[in-house]
Amino acid sequence: MKILVINSGSSSIKFELFDMPAENRLARGILQRIGEPGSQLTCSIGEVRTRLDQPIATHEQGLGLIVEILTDPARGGIDDDARIDAIGHRVVHGGESFSETALITGEVERAIEANSALAPLHNPPNLMGIRVARRLFPGVPQVAVFDTAFHQTMPEHAYLYPVPLELYDSLKVRRYGFHGTSHRFVTMQAAGFLERPIAETNLITCHLGNGCSMAAVRGGRSIDTSMGLTPLEGLMMGTRSGDIDPALVVFLHNARKLSIAEIDTLLNKQSGLLGVSGVSNDVRTLLEAEAAGNERAARALDIYCYRVRKYIGAYTAALGTVHAVVFTAGVGENSPAIRERVLEGLGPLGYYLDHEANTTAVGRLADISTPDSPARILVVPTDEELLIARDTYRIAAR
Ligand code: AMP
Repeated sequence: MKILVINSGSSSIKFELFDMPAENRLARGILQRIGEPGSQLTCSIGEVRTRLDQPIATHEQGLGLIVEILTDPARGGIDDDARIDAIGHRVVHGGESFSETALITGEVERAIEANSALAPLHNPPNLMGIRVARRLFPGVPQVAVFDTAFHQTMPEHAYLYPVPLELYDSLKVRRYGFHGTSHRFVTMQAAGFLERPIAETNLITCHLGNGCSMAAVRGGRSIDTSMGLTPLEGLMMGTRSGDIDPALVVFLHNARKLSIAEIDTLLNKQSGLLGVSGVSNDVRTLLEAEAAGNERAARALDIYCYRVRKYIGAYTAALGTVHAVVFTAGVGENSPAIRERVLEGLGPLGYYLDHEANTTAVGRLADISTPDSPARILVVPTDEELLIARDTYRIAAR
């Protein structure tokens, strides 16, 4: 069964084609700058790479072009578009409507639309991807995999904000959490690696990429996570501040006469590693700058690591027993230096890093704790697209 996984953003479409259940990756690519000058499609199908620079005005035109290339034997594509059997969509916000992956029906589409108020930048382009795909592939099952769904198991005391309860009742103001597909994927991988039944596995999962979030996972179910109503809450990220005193918004409004939109941009796009370092949002660049003596880069990385460490402490308290701390995503999988800084001095909590194992664990599944560490420390590469393909296959094949 050929399964196309789509992540449709406001001006881009990322895609990956899988052969399931074998889990072979047939093709992957990205279309960028839809409706803007300089639209570009890059795609690899096996060994064949394609790059097209041509104006692409709409998502419909873009997805049409993607399908044309995926089904063009001259470019290494499968030879018949009827052979795309199902489509899996990444959808950012499922609100309280979805605690698991769903086959897309009219009702599901309406619920995604209703949740757009909670993710105005993400859900509308996700929905556009769904509608365009339905027009291009009539009758082909489409499946929505939600970034929020894995965290719907959080108990009330973890998801409610201490603000007037009426705001939850009327506006659904609460913590939702994101990166759920990644936290779920690494949870399953880690339980498999530890050879523990998932229902008896407690984990602290650290998704450290450009966006960063952590989850406390008890018995395979998320009981807390660091992102909240929006992805701004929690850890320091590439350009997002993470946790701040909410009164900062009022303070900036008064002191600098900034509008709400300007403060939103400041906290989401100009803060985090970029805002503190003034150098970059990219951890690799910052590590290089720090090594070259840049003090602001060093300061940014210090704050970043300290905040991950604080959350490890908090989630250790939330879980009681922790079988493993799991590092994943760009930074978590590839940066021994950051993992070392995060875990330094956490021995009393039960986390002892094996420095040599840590140094060599780059981009691969590995146990980087000492043999006598009470809890394991794992590096687990994430694969959100594969999990979307698996979910889509499970639903479409029934
Ligand atoms: P992601 O959003 O998961 O693609 O992660 C992007 C982040 O991972 C960026 O901050 C990169 O600098 C970081 N990253 C990727 N490779 C490395 C590496 N080898 N060392 C440190 N950071 C890395």
